[in-house]
Amino acid sequence: MKSLAHVLAVPYPAQGHVIPMMEFAKKLVHRGCKVTFANTDFIHRRITNAMSSKEDDNCGNGLKLVSIPDGLEHGDDRLNLEKLTGSMQRVMPRKLEELIRKAKNDENRRFTCVVAEGGTGWALEVAKRMEIKTVSFCPVSASTAAVACSIPKLIEDGIIDGSDGTILKKQSFNIAPTMPVISTSAFAWACFDDMMTRKSLFKLTAKSNEFVEKFADYKICNSANELEPDAFSLLPELLPVGPLLASSKLGNQGGNFWAKDSDCLSWLDQQPARSVIYVAFGSFTAFNKKQFQELALGLELTNKPFLWVARPGITLKATAEGDYPQGYKERIGSRGKIVSWAPQEKVLRHPSVACFVSHCGWNSTIEGVSNGVPFLCWPYFADQYLNESYICDVWKIGLRFEKDKGGIIRQGEFKKKVDQLLGDEHFKATAMDLKEKIVNSVQSGCSYKNLSNVIDWIRD
Ligand code: UDP
Repeated sequence: MKSLAHVLAVPYPAQGHVIPMMEFAKKLVHRGCKVTFANTDFIHRRITNAMSSKEDDNCGNGLKLVSIPDGLEHGDDRLNLEKLTGSMQRVMPRKLEELIRKAKNDENRRFTCVVAEGGTGWALEVAKRMEIKTVSFCPVSASTAAVACSIPKLIEDGIIDGSDGTILKKQSFNIAPTMPVISTSAFAWACFDDMMTRKSLFKLTAKSNEFVEKFADYKICNSANELEPDAFSLLPELLPVGPLLASSKLGNQGGNFWAKDSDCLSWLDQQPARSVIYVAFGSFTAFNKKQFQELALGLELTNKPFLWVARPGITLKATAEGDYPQGYKERIGSRGKIVSWAPQEKVLRHPSVACFVSHCGWNSTIEGVSNGVPFLCWPYFADQYLNESYICDVWKIGLRFEKDKGGIIRQGEFKKKVDQLLGDEHFKATAMDLKEKIVNSVQSGCSYKNLSNVIDWIRD
C-alpha cells in the first residue's frame, strides 16, 4: 500500500508568515497528508510557550512541530534582519538536508514534498537536489509578488541600483494600468534606515524570486482571483488558493507568537452588534509615545467601545504600561478592552465588531475582508501601503488617515474617520459583497479548485 504524503513545511520566522503556512498545513492534514512543520528553534519555543494559554491551539493529529537552528546565539537580536537572514542562509540548508536525510529510509517518515516560500527559498533548492516535490507558498498579495518580480525591469529602467537596492529615482509607478500606484519608498527594503539591512533585504527579495522561479513545481498564493485579478494575470503561474482562513469554520489560528487573550471574546459578547472598534497592528509595528497617546486619546474621543491590541513592543518600551495618557485606563473603564494579543480571526468574525483599525499587513487585510469588516487604514511599512490602496481605492471598503505636518495622526482625525466610516452604510455593504465573493471562491470557486488540485498533486 502506498504511504501517506508527508509534507515538510518551512516558513520564514515571522508571525505573518508562520500563521498562514500553518493554515495551509492544516488543509493538508484535513485532506489526509502528514505534515512536519519546521520552525527555527527560537520561533518554535515562542509558539510552544504561547500555546499553553487557554485558547485551544491544538494543531490536531497529523501535524508535528519540529525545529532547526537559525545559526544565531541564544541572546542575539533576531529583529536584526541582516544578521538573521545571513545566518539562516548559511546554516539552515544543511540542517534541513540532515532532517530530510534522516527520514529518507523510513517508509513512514520519508518526506514527499517541501512547502517553503521566497524567504526560505533555499529549502526549495535543498528539496529539488534531493528529488522531492516542491510548492512555494506566497504569504503576501499577488500584487506584492508582482512588484518583487519587476525588480529586474526596475534595475534596467535605472529606478533602483541592482547592487544594493538603493532607490536612484524616487517615483510612483504601477506595474499594470489597472493596479494601484505604488511609491519606490514603499519597497520593503527601502523602509529601513540602516544601509546593511536595506542591502540584505533587497538581496533576499531578489534571491527569493530566483529560488521560486528555479525550484518550485507549484506556486500558490494566499489570495483570491476575485481580489486581485490583474496581478494574477501578470503572474499566470501563481495560483490563488485563499484566503485560507475564510474556509475554516472555527477561526482557530495556530502558530501564534504570543498567548491569545480569549477573555476579550466574552467582553465582545456583552457589546451591542456592530458597535466595537477593533484596533490591531500585527506583530511588527511600533509607535513613538506621542503617536501612541494620540491613538489612545482618539479612541477615548470616539465615545465608542473598543478592543485594542497593545502588544509587547507596540511602543519603544517592552510594555506600553507607562505610555498611556495620565489616568487613561480609569477614564476608559470597561468601555475599552486592552489586550496583549487577541484571537484575531475570532474577533473579526464577532457580530459586535464594527470596523478594523489596521496596519494592513496582508493577513490582517484578508482576515478583515473575509469577514466583511470595513477598515481604517494605518500602514506602517512595506507592502502595507499597497494593501491600503486595495482597501481604499480598489475594493472601496475603507478609509485612510491623514497625518499632520509633524507626521502624526491626531486624535481629531481619528474620530473624524471613525465617524465617517461608521456613518456611511455603503462601506459595510460593499465589504459584505466582497466577503460573499471570497467565501464563494474558497468554498466552491477558483481558490477552492486550485487548492484541491495542488493537494491532489501532493498526495499523488
Ligand atoms: N494576530 C493575532 N492577534 C493579534 C494581532 C494579530 O492573531 O492580536 C494575527 C493576525 O490574525 C494575522 C497575523 O497575526 O494572522 C499578523 O499578520 P499580518 O500579515 O497582518 O501582519 P504582520 O505581523 O506580518 O505585520
